[in-house]
Amino acid sequence: MVQEKAMPSEETLDPEDWESMRALGHRMVDDMLDDMKTIRERPVWQPTPDQVKAHFKRPVPLDPQPLEEIYEEFLENVLPYRRGNIHPRFWAWVVGTGTPLGVLAELLAASVNSANSRVEKQVIDWFKEVLGFPASASGLLTSGCSAANLIGLAVARNTKAGFDVRREGIQATPHKMVLYASQEIHMSIQKAVELLGLGSDALRLVPVNDDFQVDLEALKATIAQDRQDGHLPFCVVGAAGTTNTGAIDDLSALADVCLQENLWFHVDGAFGAWAALTPGARNQVAGMERADSLAFDLHKWMYMPKEIGCVLVRREEEHRKAFSLTPAYLARGEGGRGMTGGGLRNYGFQLSRGFRALKAWMSLKEHGIRKYGRLIQQNIDQARYLAELIDAAPELELAAPVTLNVVCFRYLRPGLGDAALNALNKEILVELQEQGIVVPSGTTIRGKYVLRVGHTNHRSRREDFDILVCEVIRIGKALSLS
Ligand SMILES: *Cc1c(COP(=O)(O)O)cnc(C)c1O
Repeated sequence: MVQEKAMPSEETLDPEDWESMRALGHRMVDDMLDDMKTIRERPVWQPTPDQVKAHFKRPVPLDPQPLEEIYEEFLENVLPYRRGNIHPRFWAWVVGTGTPLGVLAELLAASVNSANSRVEKQVIDWFKEVLGFPASASGLLTSGCSAANLIGLAVARNTKAGFDVRREGIQATPHKMVLYASQEIHMSIQKAVELLGLGSDALRLVPVNDDFQVDLEALKATIAQDRQDGHLPFCVVGAAGTTNTGAIDDLSALADVCLQENLWFHVDGAFGAWAALTPGARNQVAGMERADSLAFDLHKWMYMPKEIGCVLVRREEEHRKAFSLTPAYLARGEGGRGMTGGGLRNYGFQLSRGFRALKAWMSLKEHGIRKYGRLIQQNIDQARYLAELIDAAPELELAAPVTLNVVCFRYLRPGLGDAALNALNKEILVELQEQGIVVPSGTTIRGKYVLRVGHTNHRSRREDFDILVCEVIRIGKALSLS
């Protein structure tokens, strides 16, 4: 029967004019592909002017604004003031570059607008295969390696506690639970330890050797001391690629220690795990495949647009035991029929999850895993090339061995002590970044402030490193004279 009564007017967020939305969408795709294609011609980075900062202090919009105008605001106030990591001469921290298909996959993923566990499980199966994990292992895509480390360490804590941590909480521990990593370990490990209620004191930071790898004798001595003091050692975190220098711990030796000591072996392989794909550096991460849990990113090496990381856990039941919870509103229909959430919620703390797997699935198909291996090897070779340029320049000095894709160096000026050199190199970094020609970052190694190239950029060419070396020397000279 037809309703006679006047209905209140009903609204939707879909456009009234689909054609102008379509036209804008086409323009965005064209603009963004052009932007990536011609990125080399623009400055790597530029500081944000005050009027742009002020733009983001405006009050909440109460009424609609024309689409074109919103997009113009993005083009004017957002795009030019990005971090710069898609540029071929960006090597600060460890930040990936993304790809055009990655961008388009994100568009499709947002259109589907929910995770697809079939695609995700396949991608995780591929990662297990190429990183040497057994097919029976479990895994989850995450926002990044920080989340992956948190999940891995949560499983470690719950598995090794000896009591029901989920029910009783960490307060119930009869012995202080302690874990080990080198002094060079990433800060996300400390954050995870804090979030897991263990307290940052529980994270024993073990000294490193001259190659910035964890000192095995010091590690064993620390474990022994903790046992003597009545604590419960439960985990060792190995680094496959440290942020400061790209150092890779002796992972086989760490796996042996964990076996002997009955400890969980977690590996933070944020970028370095992918050395496993290369003929030249594969042996450096040997032992990683023996980890109980492995955390890594796909938005650093593997070059996918942010955010995407992953955690693998060797024994699926331990992974599930740490996170599974099925309230009535998530129970499946009779006989497992009907719609399901896919079950991946049982491997992490997020319930609603985006379709990150799609960009990984499409990218791996687009290029094939062999090409990723070649590109990662190319980055390692380029890092060595840069190290050679630095060795050959009397004005420059390498600050740490170059084992993977991280190069730390500083500008020298005869007669200056470390304090003056630190100040000079800090100033060089600021000039490099503000002039927008090349963007490394900085760090402190053994008291020396150094410029740092963390190279996970598939757009860089050798000539870009020639430019870096020339610019550092040019600016170093100019600053020293002033
Ligand atoms: C980047 C990084 C992390 C954290 O990963 P996010 O993806 O930034 O959360 C952890 N460990 C290492 C060694 C890293 O380089």
